[in-house]
Amino acid sequence: MSVDQLSTTNYQLFSDYHTHPQGHRVQRYTPALLQPWADSARKVGLTDIAFTDHDRYHAGIDFDEIDYLRERNHDLRIRAGIELDNDPIHSAAGRKWIEKHWDKLDFVLGSVHFLDRDDQMFDSVPAGAAQFEGRNVDAIYVDYFRRVRETAATGLVDCLAHLDLIKIHGHRPAAEIGAIVNETLDFIRARNLAIELSTAGWRKPVNELYPSDRIIELAIQKGIPFTIASDAHSHAQLADNYPKLARKLAGFGICQLCVFENHQRFVRAVCAEPLL
Ligand SMILES: [Zn+2]
Ligand SMILES: [Zn+2]
Repeated sequence: MSVDQLSTTNYQLFSDYHTHPQGHRVQRYTPALLQPWADSARKVGLTDIAFTDHDRYHAGIDFDEIDYLRERNHDLRIRAGIELDNDPIHSAAGRKWIEKHWDKLDFVLGSVHFLDRDDQMFDSVPAGAAQFEGRNVDAIYVDYFRRVRETAATGLVDCLAHLDLIKIHGHRPAAEIGAIVNETLDFIRARNLAIELSTAGWRKPVNELYPSDRIIELAIQKGIPFTIASDAHSHAQLADNYPKLARKLAGFGICQLCVFENHQRFVRAVCAEPLL
């Protein structure tokens, strides 16, 4: 099937594998917190969603509540997940929590939000942009992707989130991006991990999908599988910008995405045969 035969109308983007029911603080999982996510998922045509709150808010996660939500929403697949950060203060406890609850989790995202500063995520908008001032952007990129490999090497993640988050404020390296990311993509492939296509980048100053087209091309060449995600911090953001994402997938001829159950990866078709 050639790429131009694929029409976006043939795409059925049914999953969202990066969501934050707790938002930006600890909020205990309850029916009142979680049910609106199931309702919104259904409304926008999603059938498979993963809750991936930040590891620093692991105290709010309640697996019994997720089970209860599943019982009340049989038409949806609801995955228990978490986003493991490289937070220098909190993530050591997060890693321990993930190890302890590994069997109850379906899916773990790995993320890099911290560079040299312990007290500020570089992806804070706009404050985090100051971390780039007067510095060599190529060196920052190299350092960032080293941290991504460190996260992948923990053995505790199934998928890497927003792989080129480092571009968030619009800083671009002088070197060709392939030269910077190749080693990291090879490492991800060797570890048999997935990467995420995240529409969150379209809501940020860079206004671009995570990761960039060139990185997606390289990932396809290397056989790295993809999840899709909105990084929703409100249920209203579920499947954010998915029509635009469908056009991207069609452009790349990506017809399969992956989902996870108990850390096992399954491939699902997201586009129908083209109508000739
Ligand atoms: Zn993140
Ligand atoms: Zn997130």
